[in-house]
Amino acid sequence: MRYFSMEEMNNCFMDRIKIDGLQVFAHHGVYDFETKKGQNFYINAELFCDTRKAGKSDELSDSTNYGEVCEFIKDFMEKNTYKLLEAVAENLSKAILLKYDLIKYIKLEICKPEAPIQIPFKNVSVEVKRGWTTVFLSGGSNMGDSVNTLNGAIEMLKEDPDIKNVTPSKFIITKPYGGVEQDDFVNCAIMLETILDPETLLDRLHEIESFYKRERKVHWGPRTLDLDIVFFGKTVYESDRLIIPHVDMQNRAFVLEPLAELAPNFRHPILGKTVEEMLNSL
Ligand code: ATP
Ligand code: CA
Ligand code: CA
Repeated sequence: MRYFSMEEMNNCFMDRIKIDGLQVFAHHGVYDFETKKGQNFYINAELFCDTRKAGKSDELSDSTNYGEVCEFIKDFMEKNTYKLLEAVAENLSKAILLKYDLIKYIKLEICKPEAPIQIPFKNVSVEVKRGWTTVFLSGGSNMGDSVNTLNGAIEMLKEDPDIKNVTPSKFIITKPYGGVEQDDFVNCAIMLETILDPETLLDRLHEIESFYKRERKVHWGPRTLDLDIVFFGKTVYESDRLIIPHVDMQNRAFVLEPLAELAPNFRHPILGKTVEEMLNSL
């Protein structure tokens, strides 16, 4: 498997199917007269997918049917009403990614050349880029029925409509990390693909932790469930509540060992070492 980052996608080495200026009459807009009367929208879309298989076989079943995608876009634009182009783009890009399995990323532009602006203009549009990212999580538990809890968490991830291809590693038993006297841990790594952004994924993980009554009393203390984001594709990300890649993963055998089962050759985007190399140098 290859792990594309958004940057790589922008560098355009992935194949794509392009749709240019698809015209749809729809009712999106802030003003009453827009939602009542309607106007023309034009959609530009780039569907990033590997076209090699279809290129070799010459079979439509190996590709994404662009005619069908056009119908899907038209239908979506007509059946829904949003105030903002941002909301149209957000929801439509997501719907396309969920519907067409072969599409890894989409660049979607919604144009509104008849928008109510009092100055002559050619066009206004909103463009978004959205896609599936391969993510690696680290899971741990040392309170209650840990195996059951981790399995339950994996099921909850599988049931999330914005997540697919959830693949857990084997579970391992490890000694606690960080010097607090407590029971042994059950740990695992989880690979998945998601259309969520890092912050929203963290919210979902916290919801699952809360479902299993996770409490934060002692730092690095006993817990029913801990779910950390180790890698989010090749993304390097920092906010006041989230750092990706996880800052201490390279020092933790209980993270690296199960991760090495899933992706030994995945290379840390900052440290430049593979998972296997990091594990071996512990
Ligand atoms: P550690 O992060 O050292 O493994 P911990 O998992 O025990 O410690 P928590 O109490 O579970 O720590 O999390 C504290 C906060 O860490 C979370 O609320 C979250 O905002 C933040 N955090 C920062 N980076 C990450 C990450 N990559 N994955 C998960 N949480 C993160
Ligand atoms: Ca942790
Ligand atoms: Ca955590």
